[in-house]
Amino acid sequence: VVTSRPLLEVRGLSKAFKGVQALDKVNLQVRQGEILGLLGPNGSGKSTFINVVSGHYPLSAGELVFDGQVLTGAPAHRMAQAGIARTYQIPRPFKHMTVLENVSMVAMFGCASLDAQAATREAWKWLEFTGLQDRANALPDDLNLHQRKFLELARALAARPRLVLLDEVLSGLTPGEINEAIELIRRIRDQGATIVFVEHVMRAVMALTDRIVVLNHGKLIAQGQATEVMQDSEVVSAYLGR
Ligand code: ADP
Ligand code: MG
Repeated sequence: VVTSRPLLEVRGLSKAFKGVQALDKVNLQVRQGEILGLLGPNGSGKSTFINVVSGHYPLSAGELVFDGQVLTGAPAHRMAQAGIARTYQIPRPFKHMTVLENVSMVAMFGCASLDAQAATREAWKWLEFTGLQDRANALPDDLNLHQRKFLELARALAARPRLVLLDEVLSGLTPGEINEAIELIRRIRDQGATIVFVEHVMRAVMALTDRIVVLNHGKLIAQGQATEVMQDSEVVSAYLGR
């Protein structure tokens, strides 16, 4: 159920790297319960948005309020504690731990009161949720791309987030795997999480998102329903690189 209550609100969010304004005064509200698509051409600032909101990169300017709490400038562990989890565009599991250990580890970090046994039980739950239970004892390097992407999801979910930031989880998957992932993302939302979804696979964007926003050169240039926004002339020009 999408409510009008903002779970995340950013105002004037900016991030500069040497010579590049990766995010330029972005104002955005993410509503509790929605799947928000974050689109834009390569280099438009999508991953930077995820990195800043999850506290992995310090912001250069702006304000960030999550669930009524001012978290401007908070580091990654505080964003995680508050209920924000993210996946990486390129999966980053702990390479020397099994799939099960990777997920247990996050479950334990996410909830200080979980002992190792409870964290393992929790991790099994997320392996079953993502269909990885048969690979529990494998090492990340032994997984195929589809499984690595789903491990990335299981790790994000094990932190029991209220907001999940997904960075191109479908890229490189086959059409059948994409269908499976679309179902999985629906189930994540049905469990009560709010989702920001960076994706180029338009079929998935159309199937999943309640609303999309489009970035270009770090600026938010359009927002609304996917079918309408993708016809916006400024959005079309941005994608064509004009
Ligand atoms: P997108 O995910 O939309 O493809 P990014 O957020 O990765 O775009 O990048 C936006 C801009 O910021 C690009 O010009 C990119 O080169 C730059 N950028 C991103 N991360 C860094 C970084 N760690 N250091 C320097 N520049 C970066
Ligand atoms: Mg990116």
